[in-house]
Amino acid sequence: MKTLVIGEIVNDELSSGTLEIISKIKVLNLDFSVITVGNADVTNIGSDSFSNLYLKSSSNKLNLFNCANEIKKFINEKEIGLVLSNSSYIGRDIIAFLSVDYKTSPVSNVINFEIDNNEIKTINSINGGESEYITKLTSDINFILIRPKSFDQTEVTLNDNFETIDVAENEYSLDVFDVHIEEKTGPQLEDSKIVISAGRGMVEASNLKLIEDLASKLNAAIGGTRAIVDAGWMPYSNQVGQTGKTVKPDVYIACGISGATQHQVGMKDSKYIIAINKDEEAPIFQISDLGIVGDTLSVIPKLIENL
Ligand SMILES: Cc1cc2nc3c(=O)[nH]c(=O)nc-3n(C[C@H](O)[C@H](O)[C@H](O)COP(=O)(O)OP(=O)(O)OC[C@H]3O[C@@H](n4cnc5c(N)ncnc54)[C@H](O)[C@@H]3O)c2cc1C
Repeated sequence: MKTLVIGEIVNDELSSGTLEIISKIKVLNLDFSVITVGNADVTNIGSDSFSNLYLKSSSNKLNLFNCANEIKKFINEKEIGLVLSNSSYIGRDIIAFLSVDYKTSPVSNVINFEIDNNEIKTINSINGGESEYITKLTSDINFILIRPKSFDQTEVTLNDNFETIDVAENEYSLDVFDVHIEEKTGPQLEDSKIVISAGRGMVEASNLKLIEDLASKLNAAIGGTRAIVDAGWMPYSNQVGQTGKTVKPDVYIACGISGATQHQVGMKDSKYIIAINKDEEAPIFQISDLGIVGDTLSVIPKLIENL
């Protein structure tokens, strides 16, 4: 089945979500191409093993309607049967334009898919990860939005072997008046091998200093639950869970987190989970490899001291 991946640029590189989808497609041995959408000047998004067409818009325009039209031309010309994209803002917008044009329902937030004899089956995780449902796709052209971190990212060698099209602007392009780039310091949640997350069991915002000290000892990224994000202890960009980020580090340390299903769904696939909670019945212990029943405010300083 001829497949198209809609790629995205993050920090002037192909996004990790794009590379995760490419890794999965390589395992399935599908005949695929990539069309990447962005506005950055990039040099290293091409490959000798697949074609990548870069649809470049001007940085002061939101031009996804016109990008979708370019993608449509490619789909028709190459007789694409499957279009895959990340469940990101750009991916969702473009797939929305395309699926309306092709009168096909996209399947979103997919965590896995298989293709057997041209039949596509997608798997979705629901009820905070407690259940899964399978969808069979039978259209001539099928659109799937993949949830980040669903697939392991394997090594993909990238080079400058790609073509660029400057996407025209018209009355459908929106003006971008301001761009806020969040200041990022230290290891990033999505990429870090160790993530330390805080919950309401850190008792008060000032105690997050302990999490920062532990994170700096372990070169870890910092996350948090929605409860503390809602309380204003941490920005939303640090939230892990159903309505936040999905992380899959080698080690996830949950500090004072009850382990609600909405939190678990964003971290349960971490390789090794350590939880510190004073309540031995806390649900987080059910998915932990190592559980410490104790007060975060005394356990974490001891950990820091001994590292
Ligand atoms: C639609 C929807 C989407 C949601 N999305 C998300 C999401 O993306 N991410 C997310 O995290 N949540 C999400 N939630 C909220 C989720 O249901 C929980 O309310 C939230 O995860 C709880 O956060 P918490 O573990 O910090 O707080 P609590 O549930 O209050 O747990 C605090 C824990 O700390 C322990 N504790 C207290 N004091 C100490 C101490 N001194 N030492 C050690 N342990 C201590 C307690 O025993 C308790 O287990 C969502 C909810 C809904 C309805």
